[in-house]
Amino acid sequence: MEFITNNIDETIELAYKLGLKLKAGDVVLFTGDLGAGKTHMAKGIGKALGVKKIINSPTFTIVKEYQGENTKLYHLDLYRLEGLNNDYDLEEYIETDGVCLIEWPYQVEEILPKEFIKVNIEITGETSRKINIECTPKYKEIVGDLR
Ligand code: ADP
Ligand code: MG
Repeated sequence: MEFITNNIDETIELAYKLGLKLKAGDVVLFTGDLGAGKTHMAKGIGKALGVKKIINSPTFTIVKEYQGENTKLYHLDLYRLEGLNNDYDLEEYIETDGVCLIEWPYQVEEILPKEFIKVNIEITGETSRKINIECTPKYKEIVGDLR
């Protein structure tokens, strides 16, 4: 399913709508260039889950954990994974006790779950984005309701 957003607020709003439907164990993968808006989508989802802290790009961390109203939120940014020689046990965060958002998921292809929502963001202009959302069967209803 494809969405066009014309500014940051519209991107956050779309993510917020998605976030309202997510619960512990759900996994959302984000692809797209640096600066596409993946972290801004995470902000919108966090807002929907009742996360009070500001969600921003984890700089030298791979995982950030937030507390939402009814669930935790794990925000993984695997962009620098190869440069870090820490052995993170990423499986602790995927399909467990929180909603899990993963930027640059294909760094850990072998541990990705069978069921996920996938968001690809394409930069189409200075403030416009083409956001494509796909999913596996488990999430068909959630994604279908975004329209
Ligand atoms: P990523 O996590 O994909 O690297 P970020 O969310 O950190 O990207 O940054 C996106 C950048 O693009 C921000 O500087 C934001 O202000 C800018 N931007 C401009 N238009 C949009 C839009 N429509 N949606 C999301 N971000 C936008
Ligand atoms: Mg980011």
